[in-house]
Amino acid sequence: MVGGVIEKRVMIQRASFVVACREQLSALCNAWAKLYIDVTMTDLPTLLEQVRHCTICADNLPLGPRPVVQLGTRSRILIAGQAPGRKVHESGIAFDDASGERLRRWMGVSPETFHDADKVSILPMGFCYPGKGKSGDLPPRPECAPQWRARLLSHLGKLEMTLVIGQYAMDYHLPGRKQSVTEAVRQWRRSWPAVVPMPHPSPRNNRWLGNNPWFEQELVPELQNKIAELLQCQSDACG
Ligand code: SF4
Repeated sequence: MVGGVIEKRVMIQRASFVVACREQLSALCNAWAKLYIDVTMTDLPTLLEQVRHCTICADNLPLGPRPVVQLGTRSRILIAGQAPGRKVHESGIAFDDASGERLRRWMGVSPETFHDADKVSILPMGFCYPGKGKSGDLPPRPECAPQWRARLLSHLGKLEMTLVIGQYAMDYHLPGRKQSVTEAVRQWRRSWPAVVPMPHPSPRNNRWLGNNPWFEQELVPELQNKIAELLQCQSDACG
């Protein structure tokens, strides 16, 4: 009699345990499914609209949020930059400044091509102007990349080349990097042409460029050739 009661209790406990497990598993599955859908399925216009209205780190932005991104699902080239400067914040146009002029020269493209989202996507590590520090602009806001970057990148299925500009973009796009920025750029052939580590084109980097003439002598001509090939291929609809 006692044995029968114990057996019944064990059976009830086991059944409740199985139900609890199923519920937990189902909740976990639902959470993963939601995350998966969120990360991969949100259509690009909806996602860009969400970015446009983002205020996540508004309290830390001296001029308030104004995300500056350029994204097109057909683009084969991505520029992974740092964060907009003040001038870009005011115009709302990516690289609409002296850095952009130099970057376009390095790439060998016109402003029209550069600002055509079907050809070039531009995703800085922080989308809004972060303000000024003691020596130049502050780093990109750390909240931005975890919130938006993977979801936006998931829409760039045709990428063949990512220009990774400066330390913060290298930390993300060259994970596990041990070298300095200069060394990473010097070893550009290692990940060529998929990932191209580059110095920031800002006039503040004139001294770096003077100390490292090989960058403009060796990397830049190869970069221009490859970009011309990618753009030509795109207009011929090859590949
Ligand atoms: S920097 Fe990024 S996270 Fe911060 S408000 Fe702008 S879009 Fe949002």
